[in-house]
Amino acid sequence: MINKEPRVRFAPSPTGYLHVGGLRTALYNYLFAKHNNGKFILRIEDTDRNRYVEGAVENLIASLKWCGLEYEEGPDVGGAFGPYMQSQRLDLYKKYSEELIKNGLAYYCFCTPERLEALREEQQKQKLPQAKYDKHCLHLSKEEIENNLSKGVSKVIRLNVQSDQKIIIDDIIRGRVEFNSSNVDDQVLIKSDGYPTYHLANVVDDHLMQITHVVRGEEWLSSTPKHILLYEYFGWEKPYFAHLPLLLNPDRSKLSKRQGDVAVEDYRAKGYLKEALVNFVALLGWNAGDDKEFYNMNELIERFSLERVNKSGAVFDLEKLSWLNAEHLRKKTDEEILNLLKVEINHSSSVIHQYSDDYLLKVIAVMKERVSFVKEYLTKSPYFFEAPQEYDKASLEKNWKTETPPQLEKLNEAFSRIASPSKEEFEKALTETAEELNIGKGKLIHPLRLAVSGMSAGPGVFDILVIIGKDETIKRINTSLSKIKL
Ligand code: GLU
Repeated sequence: MINKEPRVRFAPSPTGYLHVGGLRTALYNYLFAKHNNGKFILRIEDTDRNRYVEGAVENLIASLKWCGLEYEEGPDVGGAFGPYMQSQRLDLYKKYSEELIKNGLAYYCFCTPERLEALREEQQKQKLPQAKYDKHCLHLSKEEIENNLSKGVSKVIRLNVQSDQKIIIDDIIRGRVEFNSSNVDDQVLIKSDGYPTYHLANVVDDHLMQITHVVRGEEWLSSTPKHILLYEYFGWEKPYFAHLPLLLNPDRSKLSKRQGDVAVEDYRAKGYLKEALVNFVALLGWNAGDDKEFYNMNELIERFSLERVNKSGAVFDLEKLSWLNAEHLRKKTDEEILNLLKVEINHSSSVIHQYSDDYLLKVIAVMKERVSFVKEYLTKSPYFFEAPQEYDKASLEKNWKTETPPQLEKLNEAFSRIASPSKEEFEKALTETAEELNIGKGKLIHPLRLAVSGMSAGPGVFDILVIIGKDETIKRINTSLSKIKL
């Protein structure tokens, strides 16, 4: 029974980006640590040299930090149990694998790839349920081993799995899962390139880093018996295990790149808010036992528990993510949105002018309830940033009649007489012009909206006029009169 400060880790292999499934694992570890006043640690499992990707670690760290998942210990922040990159801990894996050899619990294996292949084929022919190493090298004499080692024959180190041992995992999420050691292969611990396999490095590090709870994806459940054997053979206390459910596409197939974005950076680039992504990912397999779906990070920390994580796969539903994005965006203050909008404007090639904070805050005030993404301030109301280049065809057909141009000219005259343009003044000028022309106000309002925005819908037309100002309004009406020919 572990009864100390919880220490959990996120232990990704750097593949080049942070997968949303990885984000979910990292987040649950983080929430668990924060909820229980424990420590959240980042460890990079980079022992597969064939899969080395330049810049992958930096990328991963940037994505974690963007999401607000700060860790107390990790490769860039240090800590008492470092280094936190497995490639910098090779001597430790060597030392511990040799300790197992000394105790008869591991052995050198010099078998050639050809022999292993032949063995596999033979076992397949015999229809054995699973290919297993036949312990050939366990029976080499001391002299043969010494001789091979001194000659530098290519070798690996294998675990000497004892047969017919019951292996029990009391998983926090899945309950009791039982395996038999007779089904566990004499797995390789140290590869021929001297690097450890995932299993050895993972167990050695979880032990040395004093990890109390291993929280990871379900795909690692089948590795856990091997890990449990390693803990037993080393004589180490086991951590608790919690295996998180798979992430599924809406058709319940395993979430994959083919069906959409899987990298956190893709969602970031598409304009999703980190608050929304974190909230969304938190709900992939967890709920607090009620219907609540909108959470900020502090609420998640307060409510999260591993016991409330489901066993069954969690469906990745992008509609919910969009909904959460809109909700989180609306909960932000206008000042917060202003900062995000300025970043968006800086990245946008379509907005070429400079706009004051005051101006942008006015746009935010009228558009806030109409947008789900920050970038929609630009795509849904481009007319706040640039005069319309074209006019909505359907609305033109419906609202722009032969009598419209002289009526708009009259309206423009009335607008030019306004001394201090306010919503009320614009509206008064329009009402009076309509009365003078003896027409309904709609006959002016719809063409006016088209002239100033190019669009058929949006916030109140007088709100638009006040924001773009009197001169710009008059200019846009004139442009529409010269551009729109029926
Ligand atoms: N390196 C493994 C991964 O890439 C870690 C699995 C674990 O947490 O044990 O996900």
